[in-house]
Amino acid sequence: MKIHRRVAAGTSAVAAALPVMAVAQLLQLEAHNHGEVLLTLVQDAGSVTLELITPQLNLLGFEHAPATEAERQALLAAEAALRQPGNWLQLDGEGCSTGVADLETSGEAQHAENHAENHADFSVRFAFTCANATLRGLTFVGFAAYPGIHEVELQWLVQGKAGTATLTAKDSSVPLP
Ligand SMILES: [Zn+2]
Repeated sequence: MKIHRRVAAGTSAVAAALPVMAVAQLLQLEAHNHGEVLLTLVQDAGSVTLELITPQLNLLGFEHAPATEAERQALLAAEAALRQPGNWLQLDGEGCSTGVADLETSGEAQHAENHAENHADFSVRFAFTCANATLRGLTFVGFAAYPGIHEVELQWLVQGKAGTATLTAKDSSVPLP
């Protein structure tokens, strides 16, 4: 299922940091596909910013506003898990420290636009610091805990080089840059 949705340009710090061409590619990838996670990685000197966008269905099994206590608990658990970068990402690089997580929940069912579409995303941004800019690779570690995630579409921009990769449970790592 492919549902493209409107994306406001320049609302993302990641997008703001990217050259125009990379932003254009980024926006093309901004789609809501069940089973798919969108991940962008941008390294600027010693700082690494990652943005992860996932349909809520991948983590919760539903995308409506929680209607039962069990669904409320599931939403709280997913939001807590999303704030821990170690649940999702492992960076291969010297002195890369986990940074601040900034979580947004978009398209909740009470939102009028989404109510018509019935889709909702989680979006979380992680800021890491890597000493000496020695980032060498990335592994997505969320497949085991979240079987609703089938693949991760990665776009990266590292030391002026850009690339893409598709990560799966069987092939969850990518060398960088
Ligand atoms: Zn959906």
